[in-house]
Amino acid sequence: MDLRTTKSKNDISESLIDLECTFESMGLDIKILKAVKKMGFQNPTLVQSKSIPLSLQGKDILAKARTGSGKTAAYSIPIIQKILISKEKSNQKGIKAVVLVPTRELCEQVKNHFVQVSYYASNLINIIQLGSDKSVDEQRGLLRDIPDIVISTPTRLVQHLQSKAIQLQNTLEMLVIDEADLVLSYGHKEDINQIKSYLPKVCQCFLMSATLTAQVEELKKLVLHTPAILKLEEDSV
Ligand code: ADP
Ligand code: MG
Repeated sequence: MDLRTTKSKNDISESLIDLECTFESMGLDIKILKAVKKMGFQNPTLVQSKSIPLSLQGKDILAKARTGSGKTAAYSIPIIQKILISKEKSNQKGIKAVVLVPTRELCEQVKNHFVQVSYYASNLINIIQLGSDKSVDEQRGLLRDIPDIVISTPTRLVQHLQSKAIQLQNTLEMLVIDEADLVLSYGHKEDINQIKSYLPKVCQCFLMSATLTAQVEELKKLVLHTPAILKLEEDSV
């Protein structure tokens, strides 16, 4: 039997798991540790074991790893951890993290993932996705109860920024562009430029991608500052 093609119960290839690393060794909040157990994650994947500690140190991240390698938790876990820490210090409301994805369907998926990771902190962390079929007006109503995490397509976020339903200037700590290779090829360049103009000066950014295309390079220049570059080549796993 070829172990490299064996799938765990989470449908993830065993070869992508970092058996030398544990979530417990990362200094994560017990609520996150319980949630990842509940999700069936025993050890982190390679991209997670590399990204999570660097993200917790505040580094910008550019991660290139193949589809199905666990990139979502590579940013969601540090985001939830950092929000839990900042909530201990202050209960001031405000959007702390924005995740941009290229499609509505991904908004829903990524939101569901965040809900799972924050399962034991659901009373503390409010997550909203703006890619749904709801109109801008309906979403504006939902945004009155200011969320901690917003998951959106770039176009929808720009609409809410322009109408001032969303303010990021004083509170945003983290910005993720997931499926970064697709974001620009779906024609979102102007949206990203607009969003940039609403960001605070200091903000930790993550670019997650399955491929390093010219578009990802362009986004890297646009949003990242001396990032940690994590490249997980298919051959090396
Ligand atoms: P990517 O964004 O790289 O394509 P995903 O974040 O969508 O990958 O994860 C792919 C699958 O792997 C999902 O079903 C997810 O639940 C599972 N997964 C992620 N991390 C782990 C882990 N540490 N252990 C087991 N399964 C995992
Ligand atoms: Mg993904």
